[in-house]
Amino acid sequence: MNTATQASAEYRGTALVTGASSGIGAIYAQRLAQRGYDLVLVARDRTRLDALAERITNETHRSVEVLDADLGERASLARVETKLREDASITLLVNNAGIGTHTPLIASDVDHMTRMIDLNVTALTRLTYAAVPGFVARGHGAVINISSIVGIAPEILNGVYGGTKAFVLAFSQSLHHELASQGVRVQAVLPGATATDFWETGGLPLAQLDSAIVMSAPDMVDAALAGFENRELVTIPSLHDVAQWDAFESARRAMSSHLSSNTPAARYHVTSR
Ligand code: NAP
Repeated sequence: MNTATQASAEYRGTALVTGASSGIGAIYAQRLAQRGYDLVLVARDRTRLDALAERITNETHRSVEVLDADLGERASLARVETKLREDASITLLVNNAGIGTHTPLIASDVDHMTRMIDLNVTALTRLTYAAVPGFVARGHGAVINISSIVGIAPEILNGVYGGTKAFVLAFSQSLHHELASQGVRVQAVLPGATATDFWETGGLPLAQLDSAIVMSAPDMVDAALAGFENRELVTIPSLHDVAQWDAFESARRAMSSHLSSNTPAARYHVTSR
C-alpha cells in the first residue's frame, strides 16, 4: 500500500491493540492504521510503544495513542478497561498480549503459570467485558482474539499455555454464538510458530525450530486479516487444507447434541439403583 492510499483509507474507528510493542501486535497496529483505523497501543514498554506510534503516524497520518500498562497487574488493567468502556470511537479490540513457555508442566514454576493465566486469560476476558457492552449498544464492533494452534494441540508446548489458548478459542466461539446477531464480530486467530520475541522470552530460541514450520509475523498477520475480512470465526494461517478444520469442527458440532444424557453410556456398565 503506498502512502497516498494509506492516507486516504476510509476511517474505520479506533482499534485498541494489546501487546503492540513488538511482534504480532506491532504488525497488527501498522496494518490496521493502513486500513483506516486510529490506534490505541497497549503494552508495558513505553519507549518501544512511543517509537512505533511515531513511525505509524508518520507513515499513515492516523492518530495513535499510547497506553503503557502491565495487563497482569489489576490497577493497570483497570485503566485499559476504563478506556474501552469510555471511548466510543473504539470499534475493534485486538486481544494479542500473551506469553508462553515450552517447559514441561511439572518442571514449571506454578507462580509463573498463574501469571500466564492472568495475562492470557484474565486480562483478555476483562478487556472483552469492558469493550463488548458498548459494541452491542452501538450495534457494531469487533474482537480479534489471538489464540494459538496449541489451543487445539496442547501436547506441543507447555500445557498451561495450551490451556490458556484453548480458553481463548472456546471463549471466542461462545462470544460469536451470543453476539453475532447483535452486530458484534469475533475472530479467533490460531497462529502456528511465528518469528517473534515470544520464543526467546519463553526460553526456546527461535533458531532451534525447523524453519519450515516458522512463519514471519507480517505474513501471519496479513493472512489473519484476510481471514477477518472474509468473516472467518476461526483463522489458522498455517493450515493449508482448510477441509481438515472443517471436518474437525463438523465432528464437534455433530457430537454436541449427544453430550448430555440421563443414562451413563453402556460402556461404563452402570446399573441404576
Ligand atoms: P512478543 O513479540 O513477545 O509480543 C508479546 C507482546 O505482549 C509484547 O508487546 C509485550 O510487550 C506484551 N506483553 C507481555 N506481557 C505483558 C503484560 N504483562 N502486560 C502488557 N503487555 C504485555 O510475542 P508475539 O509472538 O508477538 O505474541 C503475541 C501473541 O501471539 C501472544 O498472545 C502469543 O501467545 C501469540 N502466539 C504467538 C505465537 C508465536 O509463535 N510467536 C504462536 C501462536 C500464538 P511488553 O513487553 O512491552 O509489555
